[in-house]
Amino acid sequence: MFFIKIRNTFVWNMNFSKEIKGWFARHKRDLPWRTQNDPYQIWLSEIILQQTRVAQGLPYFLKYIEKYPTIKDFANADLDEVLRIWQGLGYYSRARNMHFAAQQIMNEFGGEFPRTYKELIQLKGVGAYTAAAIASIAYDEKVAVVDGNVYRVLSRYFNDATPIDSSEGVKLFQKLANELIEKENPGDHNQALMEIGALVCTPKNPDCENCPLSSSCEGFNKNTFSNLPVKSKKVKVSERYFTFLHFECKGKIWIQKREAKDIWNGLFQLPMIETDQKMNFQDLKKHEIIESNNVKSIEYRTSLVHKLTHQKIFADFYFVELGNFKENNTYQLIDKIDLDNYALPKLIVNYLEVSNC
Ligand code: SF4
Repeated sequence: MFFIKIRNTFVWNMNFSKEIKGWFARHKRDLPWRTQNDPYQIWLSEIILQQTRVAQGLPYFLKYIEKYPTIKDFANADLDEVLRIWQGLGYYSRARNMHFAAQQIMNEFGGEFPRTYKELIQLKGVGAYTAAAIASIAYDEKVAVVDGNVYRVLSRYFNDATPIDSSEGVKLFQKLANELIEKENPGDHNQALMEIGALVCTPKNPDCENCPLSSSCEGFNKNTFSNLPVKSKKVKVSERYFTFLHFECKGKIWIQKREAKDIWNGLFQLPMIETDQKMNFQDLKKHEIIESNNVKSIEYRTSLVHKLTHQKIFADFYFVELGNFKENNTYQLIDKIDLDNYALPKLIVNYLEVSNC
């Protein structure tokens, strides 16, 4: 055993990697993408698990693998279908980027999954974290991953309050992670660190008693871990007001493909009016979309609040009974029972559930 000094902390560098890999061998979760080091499956799982818990992401992983067993199948898939399978996971740009990246692999890499960090990071939607995860797990490249779990473990282990969302923090924790990883089984080292963050060094009530790092963890020994990691910036959240209109007549409804680049690009929603503040019923009745159609009745159904990272959406839903549907270039007329064939934002799915549609 030897000591190295990183900032002001002496660390048992040699034991760190061995301890966590030993723990990982005994405690790792049995997950399908861990059974073989297939870069396609690792990539798929890593993208799905960004901002998503394993329990929620696992069925999606299995659906994609069943539907598209190879990267070639994924590249040839219809984007609308890829988005439909993604429905319910949120952050749809991940699915769009995956589809684009699969085509990049077919066109720019001859159908072979890229093998190095430098090549992997060229793929759309693949950042430093995902490239390091694939390169280390599938190809044994010694590159350290730093994700939310790793930030938490390292900031506590080193008792370091440098904000993890500052450029100084990003550099510092990447440097620490790079210094800790070893040439031998770097993929297991990375997965072990992330697994400890997910299962042991959890945001609240970490299980320090059963942590393989507790004997040398500064945050545990100085009882500072509950204040770590530190973030400096608050996320600015804007508020938006949407009024959705559920036009229905004889089992048919209108839907609209969302082309706006802000959110839900490429997904289908009910016809919608966006306003600066909550729209009142009188204003709705006078709105062009109501006046220009053969409306028999309008009925308020429900209001839902939908939170995204940077936006809070206040949505009101109205059921609009029509005498008949007029010709229209903006909306698509479909049979209501076919709604399942369209990728819908979670907010619309929630509305359909609560209104028993
Ligand atoms: S000892 Fe506790 S605070 Fe330190 S890394 Fe382990 S779980 Fe986290």
